[in-house]
Amino acid sequence: MIKYPLYQFPVNGVTPFDEYKTAAHGDAILDAVETQIEGCYNDYENAVNSASVHNLSPHGFVDPEKEHLKKLYKSDCDIAKKIRQHHSTFTSTTKRVYNNKCPYCTLSEPDTIEHILPKDKYPEFAIHLYNLIPCCSKCNRHKSEAVSDQYGLPYTINFYYHDPEYCQFLEVDCIIDNKGFPSFKYKLTFPQGVDPTLTAIITNHFNRLHLIERYNEEVIRCYTKTELTIESLFRGKPLNDALQYLKNYLSIIINDYGLNHHHIAMIRCMIGSPIYHAYLQSRL
Ligand SMILES: [Zn+2]
Repeated sequence: MIKYPLYQFPVNGVTPFDEYKTAAHGDAILDAVETQIEGCYNDYENAVNSASVHNLSPHGFVDPEKEHLKKLYKSDCDIAKKIRQHHSTFTSTTKRVYNNKCPYCTLSEPDTIEHILPKDKYPEFAIHLYNLIPCCSKCNRHKSEAVSDQYGLPYTINFYYHDPEYCQFLEVDCIIDNKGFPSFKYKLTFPQGVDPTLTAIITNHFNRLHLIERYNEEVIRCYTKTELTIESLFRGKPLNDALQYLKNYLSIIINDYGLNHHHIAMIRCMIGSPIYHAYLQSRL
């Protein structure tokens, strides 16, 4: 499985455990459990390398250690600043986080930091760099506390090592409503022969975060904007000129957004759907 580029270990020669020691320095209660935390951090690193963070068992810390571990994390703590910085380093080159969007949905700005393993159940990873990822508050809420399903598969893509760009799976159908306007409906369609585990994880991700419904809502705004541009540029001109414009536009933006971005899927549908072509012809 291809590692997603968000993962770099260690960052600037500083390991997540070095970060932890700096944050916990001077806390007598945490000093007493440092060796145990080191073991937890080693387990986490191994789990990242085998793409199985969701299968880690909680260490089982109770108060007062649990409380002290949880308190290390605050939205303005050093590690939170570092994770935002770490994330933004990749925003110009990483498809799913294009344009400073939440990697889980690519719809909203990341206005919160999500704990991949929740800090109440796993206080030992409250400030682990690779247990944190900026995301939008809607995704954070939908994700909630559960980490894996009944088959032991994660509910969400882990952007530190899963590669959601490994094949094209997000498609859109165009239908014309009873008022004669097009509407777009998203769906997941996996090609034959792709890794069934990753397919199941991506399906979990979309279900957990209600992405199909959220994309179906967003597409109205997104489509209207694109259509206004096409109509202003190509009114009175041949349909093929408008379609060629869309193809050129797609070839430029696909490099930045990636194969499965909601906007890319919509443009692909506009280019390929005979139903949409008939509609567009009537508007030009
Ligand atoms: Zn989101």
